[in-house]
Amino acid sequence: MTSGKAPRPKTDAQMGFDLLMELYDRGQTLDTKSQVELVNKFLAVREPGRQVPRWGFFLKANRAERIVNALREGLDDLRDRKPFIRPALAIDITNVETFQDGIVWDQLHGRVARTGSRDPRHLFFTRVFELLTEVAPWLHVCQREGCRRLFLFQRPKQIYCSDSCAQRVRMARFLKQREPAPSAHRQSRRDYAQRRARKK
Ligand SMILES: [Zn+2]
Repeated sequence: MTSGKAPRPKTDAQMGFDLLMELYDRGQTLDTKSQVELVNKFLAVREPGRQVPRWGFFLKANRAERIVNALREGLDDLRDRKPFIRPALAIDITNVETFQDGIVWDQLHGRVARTGSRDPRHLFFTRVFELLTEVAPWLHVCQREGCRRLFLFQRPKQIYCSDSCAQRVRMARFLKQREPAPSAHRQSRRDYAQRRARKK
């Protein structure tokens, strides 16, 4: 997934990714209103030409919460090199459209975009998949155990998602070095002494 030569992702892709990671990190702790706000913000960033308010839709029957949970599971799967599959949405039976998929020429941005289902939940995941495909050349997994967050690198060799993760790893390494460990030399001398002692 690395290609340091690719130009940086476009600003709107970076903004969309930041919003996704905000949903990933904090989504489950937010109230419904804030969840809906973030989901709509993401859709607005990814579809600047079409600012359709989708508030009412996401407020019904904890739809926002389900989206947040499905997104989190999907991103975890992707991080673990498993497929991030579109979640089944037919939990509440009302307003469930058959899923359709296709492409359309987006004249505003001079690109081809996915289209099909107008169900905002389907639309949300379609936009998520589009975005992740677009930013894939910069996508890394944080190498700090206990973090393993997806992030877009700034430098190709960047292996930690943030300065704070890099700092924590440096600190852990420093503390480990300070532990009084027997040196290889001392260890071999001790082994030698023990072997001699046993021979006697
Ligand atoms: Zn990290």
